[in-house]
Order: sequence, then structure tokens, then C-alpha cells
Amino acid sequence: MLGAMQGWTMRVTRVIDHAAREAGSREIVTRWADGSETRTDWAGIRRDAKKMAQALQSLGVKEGDRVASLAMNHSRHLVSWYGVAGMGGVLHTVNPRLFEDQLEFIANHAEDRVLLYDAMFQPIVDKMRDRWTTIEHYICYDSGEHNPAFEDWIAPYGEDFDWVEGDERDPCMLCYTSGTTGNPKGVLYEHRSTVLHALVGLQPAAFNFSASSVMLPVVPMFHAASWGLPYAGAMAGIKFVFSAVNEPAVLDELMKREGVTDSAGVPTVWLAHFQYCDATGTDLPKLKSATIGGSAAPKFMIERLMKNGTRVQHAWGMTETSPIGTVGGPTADWDQLSFEEKVGKTAMQGRPVFGVELRTVDLDDMSTELPRDGKTSGALQIRGPWVIKRYFKAEEDAVDADGWFDTGDVGILHPDGTLQLTDRTKDVIKSGGEWISSVELENAAVGHPAVAEAAAIGMPHPKWDERPVLFVVKKDGADCTGEEVTAFLVDKVAKWWLPDAVEFVDDIPHTATGKISKKDLRARFADYTLES
Ligand code: ADP
Repeated sequence: MLGAMQGWTMRVTRVIDHAAREAGSREIVTRWADGSETRTDWAGIRRDAKKMAQALQSLGVKEGDRVASLAMNHSRHLVSWYGVAGMGGVLHTVNPRLFEDQLEFIANHAEDRVLLYDAMFQPIVDKMRDRWTTIEHYICYDSGEHNPAFEDWIAPYGEDFDWVEGDERDPCMLCYTSGTTGNPKGVLYEHRSTVLHALVGLQPAAFNFSASSVMLPVVPMFHAASWGLPYAGAMAGIKFVFSAVNEPAVLDELMKREGVTDSAGVPTVWLAHFQYCDATGTDLPKLKSATIGGSAAPKFMIERLMKNGTRVQHAWGMTETSPIGTVGGPTADWDQLSFEEKVGKTAMQGRPVFGVELRTVDLDDMSTELPRDGKTSGALQIRGPWVIKRYFKAEEDAVDADGWFDTGDVGILHPDGTLQLTDRTKDVIKSGGEWISSVELENAAVGHPAVAEAAAIGMPHPKWDERPVLFVVKKDGADCTGEEVTAFLVDKVAKWWLPDAVEFVDDIPHTATGKISKKDLRARFADYTLES
């Protein structure tokens, strides 16, 4: 017997319909790369998405076809999220920081037919055009002499257009992982997975949105669907403030002028903002919440934001998980915790939102599930309706027979559900048979006033197999010695975790998503030897 309630296909077009109907005049502000600003609203986004859907159809784009974007955060990019989905297409958000070979690979692999791009990426387009074999049409988001400009392209069409309907399991977005190993892999989000993910993203234990929220997402729209913010924000009818540039001075001014209550970005974004405020003597913006994810948020960052009255939502996830996996927020014992304890808890990666199941398994025997005892670390696995099943065009599933996806992360689960991420599987440091968390070492090291960035890697050691070596980039104009850094770590990590050496470097290699690339760092120091 079936239940007797209404069927209501979960399509992302329902999200924009809702936003336009219930919060139609709520503003969407864009600060463009050239310094100009425009304002539209949810009704305007929907209107332009309807126009764009027809413009795509007139180019011959069909349901299921991929339309790529190479763009920063702005209202026209937002229009594309809904316009492409609205004609049944799949928006492939391309990370402009990828290397040329990766850019070539992903556009051809995705078989993108149209590319929408910002004028600032014209050099990439010029360089790649001959190597991209499937792209037939180039549309520039800005007006310029090169290709049709977005506004002119959609102008001939009216608002009178019925969204293309279909199954809720149809794809709507494609996002490639940056591929620190091998070629990038495509993650194909569905209408249903996207709607469910956004619904959960709204809740108090995640982004905590209400109609009065004003969000400036620093996390790029090309990075894991901007953490689902453009959908969750539409559901709640929030005001968005977008910036097509990520300079702290611009962000700071926008946050203060536009009454921004919430923001989201990787730790480096907040670090840059702190540095800007310190250098100019400006106060940090009084945000209600700051979501930090993508890499571990260091304690000093959490502490400073919390002291400024900002709730820190430290989140963990990956492209393969849409990306929300866990989010930090007040736990049941929150009111009994001291400030230091709250900071300590927030430095962990939070708890799974409804819909996400987590487990840790033995790194050497994946069939053995580990206890959630707050001390045993293992390979982190995840399953849920917005977690990947199979990479785009892959021939085999990426999950085991029970649906678990192995994240490649190593973590500890605590009895209250909190996830504490300790490493990537490939980066674990094993000394004398015991694990050392490079994440915790790095986190503690960046608390030193002279340290800008730190990366710990395991180096071969004759007695202990591996010992940690800490690579450190000093802050501009700051100085310190290796002994000082080690002394600073003494009361922060176990004694046997202390690095055997601290090496100062000018820079640490990063991936296209801004994460430390330990693979490249290890390659750079392949000949490094530790004294026994
Ligand atoms: P990429 O495209 O660089 O592979 P993702 O954005 O999908 O990247 O990266 C996901 C990875 O980022 C996770 O598997 C984890 O290692 C790391 N990560 C994400 N959030 C956090 C966090 N809060 N703390 C520590 N590491 C994190």
C-alpha cells in the first residue's frame, strides 16, 4: 500500500520558485571585479534563470548536457545555477585554479558544450580553447569584445517559460575533485541530493539561516557547490552579498556596509582577514556566525572569532559529500563548558547532520569497525543521500557493498558524535607503531605568533620508522627559531609528538583548492634525512 500524500518532485527549480515567491524582493548584491556593484533580488534571479534556460535551448543544449562555468561568486553565476538546472542541464563548475592539464581533462571528460566565464579568465580561455574539444559556445559574464556577453545573450527571451520537469534523481551539477592523485574525478549531484542537502544545511546545527540572515560566502561557487549555500540561502530567502574578488579590504567593507551576519570560507580566508584588520587597525566585522571548513580551523582562529561574538561553525566535508558531513555547534553540555573547552571542542570537526552516517574502521582491516570512544583513530567512512555512489563515467561504484564511502580521511569519533579529524590516510605519521596527528601538530604550530603556515610530514627514521618534521613559513617580518617553535608546542601536544626538526621554508605547496599538498612537499624533500 502506498501512502496518500502528495508527490512533490524534489527539483532545484522548486527552490528558486520558492525564493522568488516568498522572498522575491530580498536583495542579491554583487561587487564585481572592476569595482562596480549591482543589485538584484530573488525574483530577478528567477526571471534571468528562465531567460537563460531558453537561451541555452536555442543553442541546442539538451537535457543532461553539461554547461560549464569558469567564474567567481556573483549574481550571474547564481542565475546559471538555476538556469541550467531549469532546462534540465548539468552545470559543471570549473575551478580556475586547476593546472592546464587538469582544465583540459575535466572539460573534455565532462563533454562540456558551453562555457560561461568571467572576463578575468579570458587568458585561460584563450590558452585552452584549442585543447577543449567539445565546447561549442563561449559566453562571457561581463560585457567585452571577445564573446557574446551574458546579459545580451539572455535579453531576447521572456519570463514565460516552464521549467523542464523530470525525475528528482536527474543530475543538475557536476563538480570535479582537484585530484591530488591521478586525474580529477567528477561528482555528479542530483536534484534530490541537492535539495535534501540544502534542507539540512538550513538547520540551526548547520548554517542556522533565517529570513533575516545576510550571507557573504567567500567559499567559491566552483568549490563543492559553494557548500550548498546558494540553495540553502534561497530556501530561507536570505540576502546574499557576493564579491567577485577575495581581497580582505573589499570583503571587510562589504560585510560592514551591507550588514552581513554570516560568512563562510576556508581557514586562509579568515587568516587574511585577521591580517588585514591588524595591519590597518580595523575591527573585525561583528558576524553572528562564521562557517569554516575545507581544512582544519586552528584554535587561535576560533578563539579570536568567538571573542568577537561570532559563533564558529567548523565543518568537515568533501566534494564527494556535497559537501556537508559534520558541522560544529553547541553540544548538549555546551553551557557547562569553560571558554577554553568550547574552543577545544570547536577545533574538532563537529557532529554529523541528519542524513549522514559516519563510522571509523581499522586502517589495516577495513572490515573492523572501531569504537566511538574518543581515542581510537581509524579510516573515516560515510554514507547518506548526498554522498557519492559512483564517480562520473566510472565503471564501478566508489562505495562498498554496504554503501560506505571511504573518505581517505583518518579520524576519531567521540561518544557524543563529534568527529575529530587527525589526518589524511596518505599523510599519517606512524612513529614506533603509534599514530601522530599531523593536523593537531600543524594546528598548534600556527598558534605561534611568528608562524604563518605549518605542515608536518613523517620522515623515515632508522629507529622509529617515521618521525614528524615540521615545515614552517614565517609571517612577513616575523622571526623565530626552530627551538622556539618546538618549545611553544610542548604544552599543546604529547611529548613524543614533538617534531624531530623544524625546517623554515619560503612557501608550502598547495592544491588547486588551497589545501597543503603533502605529496608535493614530500617530493620536494625526497632526499631529506633525519639523524638517528
Ligand atoms: P579536493 O577537491 O581538494 O580533493 P575537497 O574540498 O573535496 O577537496 O576536500 C575534502 C578534504 O578536505 C577532506 O577529505 C578533508 O581531508 C579536508 N577537510 C575538509 N574539511 C576539513 C576540516 N574541517 N578539518 C580538516 N580537514 C578538512
